[in-house]
Amino acid sequence: MAKEMREPIETGCPDPFQYMHPVMRRNFGLWAYHSHPRPGVLLHVAKNGDKVWTVRVGTQRILDVFTLRTLCDIGDTYGEGYVHFTIRSNIEYMVTDEAKVQPLIDAIEKAGFIVGGTQNSVTMISHTQGWLHCDIPGTDASGVVKSMMDELIDEFRNANMPNRVHITTSCCQINCGGQGDIAINVQHTKPPKINHDLVANVCERPSVVARCPVAAIRPAMVNGKPSLEVDEKKCICCGACFPPCPPMQINDAEHTKLAIWVGGNHSNARGKPTFQKLVAAGIPNNPPRWPEATAIVKKILKAYKEGARDWERINEWIERIGWPRFFEAVELPFTKYHIDNWRGSRKSLNSSTYIRF
Ligand code: SF4
Ligand code: SF4
Repeated sequence: MAKEMREPIETGCPDPFQYMHPVMRRNFGLWAYHSHPRPGVLLHVAKNGDKVWTVRVGTQRILDVFTLRTLCDIGDTYGEGYVHFTIRSNIEYMVTDEAKVQPLIDAIEKAGFIVGGTQNSVTMISHTQGWLHCDIPGTDASGVVKSMMDELIDEFRNANMPNRVHITTSCCQINCGGQGDIAINVQHTKPPKINHDLVANVCERPSVVARCPVAAIRPAMVNGKPSLEVDEKKCICCGACFPPCPPMQINDAEHTKLAIWVGGNHSNARGKPTFQKLVAAGIPNNPPRWPEATAIVKKILKAYKEGARDWERINEWIERIGWPRFFEAVELPFTKYHIDNWRGSRKSLNSSTYIRF
């Protein structure tokens, strides 16, 4: 008789309920309302009268053990021993006694962290950190975030924006990250440069050819070795060929830039999703402080703060005033490159139903 089938070890995200504050667990799905007593603090009231105050604190996302221990010690001493992280890398403490809120905030600020990021503020920038773990980053997104949030600290601490502002950054041009009210994304501006000596040993050429969205890559023999060639007229400089074939180097200190997009929003119970649109391209990818990109984001936020009505999100504000007035308000040039008039997708896009991983 065949042996019993091997059971794989369950991995992945553990059951979150075991880590929840008991009052939150008890009232799951039973909340009556929440209010915003001060920036950085939310009060959740359950139908049975239970109350939980959550205190939101910005973090640098890449947390060393010392910082994590410091944050957890604050939760044990001044909170009730429960925390959670938001998708924007904020840590939240929960307490059920209002008298604990101010001492908790004092302890957090004394340790050098910032309370804020709730309701109509600029909350933490969500970002990928491919510089640490991924194979295709073109910039250090976490560095961009740090530089920008240093300058937007008052917008995080206070709730002075017309509505909440979600900013995102990504570290490559094609994959995760990069949709939000304001998105700072990598933009490659030249086709990949191929190291023909390495292609045959490093790359699976059919996968690389299949990967190109505009079918610009062909197999080729170069110097007697199997390699690849790129039709540069077709290449849209997306960088998708670089992960399966690192000899197709596309990152470049001079030609890898940043671009800023605005108006992206997920759908919710009240509205459809909205797609972000390009407002500035060719911005220098300029570490360690990225001053050019930060200056443009600050301009957009200033114009939004001055021009939008209460509770208008950035995309709603732009829709109301129109794109010409938006470009005037943010003092950015509108060029022919902002117009998406590409008609070639039918013929050029790699549109087979073949699924690739
Ligand atoms: S944005 Fe791109 S480089 Fe950054 S983690 Fe995601 S896939 Fe990797
Ligand atoms: S995958 Fe992207 S970068 Fe590479 S050749 Fe095709 S269009 Fe150009």
